[in-house]
Amino acid sequence: MLKLKNISKTYVIGEFSQDALDNVSIEFRKAEFVTVLGPSGCGKTTMLNVIGGLDHADKGDLIINDKSTHNFTDYEWDMYRNNSIGFIFQSHNLISHLSVLQNVEMGLSLSGVSQSEAKKRALEVLGRVGLSDHIHKRPTQLSGGQSQRVAIARALANNPDVILADEPTGSLDSETSIQILDLIKDIAKDKLVIMVTHDSEMAYKYATRVVKLKDGKIIDDSNPLAENVKNDAKLDLKKTAMSFKMALISSLNNIRTKLGRTFLTAFAGSIGIIGIALILSLSNGLDQEIDKFERETLSGYPITITESRLDFEKMRQATETDLLMYPEQNYATMYDENTFQSFLIPNDITDDYLQYVDAYVNGDGVETLSGVKYQRKVNMALLKYMEVPQIGDVYFPIHSETIVENEDTNPGDIFGFGFPFFTLLPEGEVFNNNYEVIYGNPVTQDFEQKNFEVYLVVDEYNRIYKSTLQILGFDPNTETTFAFEDIIGTEFKLYMGEYNMQTSDISEAMDVTIAGIIRAKEGSNVALLYNGLGYTSELADYLYTNYPDEVGGIDTISLYPSNFENKDLVKEYLDKYNEGKTDAEKVEYVDQAATITSMVGGVIDTISIVLIAFAAISLVVSSIMISIITYISVLERTKEIGVLRALGARKKDISRVFNSENLIIGFAAGLVGVVVSILLIIPINIIIENLTNMPNVAKLSTWHISTLLLISIILAYIAGYIPARMASKKDPVVALRTE
Ligand code: ADP
Ligand code: MG
Repeated sequence: MLKLKNISKTYVIGEFSQDALDNVSIEFRKAEFVTVLGPSGCGKTTMLNVIGGLDHADKGDLIINDKSTHNFTDYEWDMYRNNSIGFIFQSHNLISHLSVLQNVEMGLSLSGVSQSEAKKRALEVLGRVGLSDHIHKRPTQLSGGQSQRVAIARALANNPDVILADEPTGSLDSETSIQILDLIKDIAKDKLVIMVTHDSEMAYKYATRVVKLKDGKIIDDSNPLAENVKNDAKLDLKKTAMSFKMALISSLNNIRTKLGRTFLTAFAGSIGIIGIALILSLSNGLDQEIDKFERETLSGYPITITESRLDFEKMRQATETDLLMYPEQNYATMYDENTFQSFLIPNDITDDYLQYVDAYVNGDGVETLSGVKYQRKVNMALLKYMEVPQIGDVYFPIHSETIVENEDTNPGDIFGFGFPFFTLLPEGEVFNNNYEVIYGNPVTQDFEQKNFEVYLVVDEYNRIYKSTLQILGFDPNTETTFAFEDIIGTEFKLYMGEYNMQTSDISEAMDVTIAGIIRAKEGSNVALLYNGLGYTSELADYLYTNYPDEVGGIDTISLYPSNFENKDLVKEYLDKYNEGKTDAEKVEYVDQAATITSMVGGVIDTISIVLIAFAAISLVVSSIMISIITYISVLERTKEIGVLRALGARKKDISRVFNSENLIIGFAAGLVGVVVSILLIIPINIIIENLTNMPNVAKLSTWHISTLLLISIILAYIAGYIPARMASKKDPVVALRTE
């Protein structure tokens, strides 16, 4: 069954070499109580370690079941230790952070026994060694004798065929020693027990066979096997593997005994997570805020195509100059104002382009648009009969438009800064959906009598521009409120063509009267682009058809997307026109909403990147800390590693114990990070609200929280991976010898 054949083992330390075992040959019976007797340093422990498969001989062979172990794999050794061998050490070697019961269960769960079965068997063996009442105690709460009983129970739990005991009574008083020896003797009735001792009285009193060892050689064997006797009892080898649950329990218990340190580690690990969490919550919140702003406020802004558009690149270049600021020089230099004009790039709205847009507006795009506005250049003037100082009462032009090719657009118009007094309202559906007549009547047009009606537009606070009020005949410097009923009925003249106060014939002008006050509906999403008089497309069409000589080409096309999503479809269609065209042929549109938000978004992105870089650094630092702490833990738990290996734990199982501890720390760090972040978000949001009036900007979604936890767990795992591997590679013999 078990046989040592010419085993030699030499330890070499520098130049000095020590023969721990020297050509040892011995065979054991299936059930006997063997004591190995010899002075300290004669090689007893080494021999036991070789028999138990913890240590391996330099020369010779350990024969198990008549088979050489020369070609045993690590895995086979692990199985052998777990199934066939039970170790009892002099110093008990219990795992201090596991309970008595868990210590005994450990070896069982390594052999893949189910949790309930393991518990049942552990209780059984603990009963056998007389410890039923102490199963929930920690090893530190036990006496020496009780500890050794736990060690015996642990060795017996897997029902191994061989029990190896290394001076099991070495640290016990004589009375307790006798109890333990009686227990071991009882075990030896149906097992092979090999016990090491240096006490010859004890050896002869209890053992059935005494083997004397001196300087690594067997010098006497009281009951050797006869050469020719067939000894065909077999050892049974089954596979071992620690369940993940057991690894977790072990790590959890270990963590419990070092709560303070674990909390510090988790806290250190959480700092990086907090950084990332805050950045995420802020940029996420701001993005949402911008998105909301875009949807709620800006979605009503049309996509406009104007006769010219701004060249931002040129504008940027123009503001760059090599000139000195506030120079102390007594001469001036030239600044060509025409460079400003060059910011404007002509945007040729050709017939071809108009057809292209028209095909969309009346075809595929019908669903995506809630309105379209084609505005033409017209020669016209809106006149008001008023008293002008020095001239007297006259029809004075308060708003005039002229057809001047490519020169009539000022950059402000494109930005939407300019607010023309007399403007074309959006047509039909867009108008009805977004405006309401809050006073007076809907406009009607009398084309026969040339009596036309217009609206006065007020903003959502019922405000009217000061200049508009002056035109309406109020004195905004002395009055504070302006009654709608005084506004309704205000009359103007509309003169088609270029108006000249001296020569133009006023009788040719049409009558224009304010019939109603309109205001954007509550929740309307059409941008309030004007504050003045608004005329309908009906009137515009009348003018376009009846005064062809005074009407120019289409100046501005405004496309009102029906909702935010459809805006992209409209833009996509317009972009397609430019495909394969030269720069000069291209027609570019302006999405005013996008221009505003992309500037804001860009700034936020830049800030986020900088902050993320900082947070990443703190993540690295906390990972290194976790790495160091795991390393310290490995050093501290060296003995435990040896015990686990003696119990048959694979290298894999050892790294599993540490890895699962790191997973727990990573999870704890993530949790601390998330909780602290959620708490920090409260004051952050208060500050932001005070500064910007936006409530609850920073927010963490559940998706963010789970991502952060995952990042934390993964980082802790990676950080602890190398120390965990180091732990798994520790030589169990060396590990067991450390104190
Ligand atoms: P025993 O258990 O009989 O006291 P050991 O088997 O522990 O003796 O040791 C046998 C000899 O081998 C001793 O001289 C000891 O110093 C030496 N020895 C044991 N382990 C090592 C080691 N890891 N490195 C160097 N020498 C060792
Ligand atoms: Mg020893």
